[in-house]
Formats: sequence, structure tokens, C-alpha cells
Amino acid sequence: MTTTKRVPVTEGLFEETAGGARLLGSRCATCNSTYFPKSPVCHNPKCNGSAVEDASFGPLGKLWSYSVQHYAPPPPAKFDEPYEPYTLGLVDLPEGLRVLGRMSTDNPNSLEVGMNVELVIERIHGDDDGNDVVSWMFRPA
Ligand SMILES: [Zn+2]
Repeated sequence: MTTTKRVPVTEGLFEETAGGARLLGSRCATCNSTYFPKSPVCHNPKCNGSAVEDASFGPLGKLWSYSVQHYAPPPPAKFDEPYEPYTLGLVDLPEGLRVLGRMSTDNPNSLEVGMNVELVIERIHGDDDGNDVVSWMFRPA
């Protein structure tokens, strides 16, 4: 019997916790600037701090904008054949980040700018070993 595994599209970008999905990033210990993905340094030109700490963000945010991806992205992007259009959202997180992510919905007409969304970890495509490659997405909360 084979079991489908969930394989992260890239290590170190997100995690699933008992309280929901989280994005893994950084926060400056001096000025509280937040970064996703992780940053080894603070990029705030007004900040003299040098220490950044690991931080996690989510699961709730507000949809700032969205767009339907009607054409297949170029390599190295991967997707299941045949290509199915999907929706990309730009989401404002309360920690001060605006994050791009796929929207977990088959119906972009159900989306509204300003609506509450939550972070989820879901399948984006399969791999050659029959596993589910998963990434962060947002769905209406
Ligand atoms: Zn800083």
C-alpha cells in the first residue's frame, strides 16, 4: 500500500501548527520590522539594529487584491496537466506584511477585496513519486 506524502514546495517557508498554518519569517529586535521569507538582516534604512529573530505570521489576514492566472507559468514553475487557471491573492497580514499567495478557491467570483482570509497549507501539484507538493494558500475565513 502506498501513502501519499505531503512534501513542502520549499523547506523553511511555512509550518502547520495546532492553531493553523504559519508563515516563517523574521522580525527585527530593534525596530520590529517583519520579513517573509526569513532575512538575516534588517533592511529598514532608519534602523541601526543588527539582530533579527525568527518569527511566524498568520493565520489571519485581509485580501488586498487578487488576479486570475489564466496562462501557465514558465519553467521552473510546475503544475498538474492539463493546466487549470488559479487565483493569486495579495494579502495584508496584521504583522505588517503584504504576502502573495495562491487562493484556495475554485470560484474567484466569491472573492472580495478587503475580505478576511486565512492561511492554509494545501496541494499545488503532484511530484514524480506520487506525493502532494504543498504550499501556503489563502482561503476566505
Ligand atoms: Zn530594524
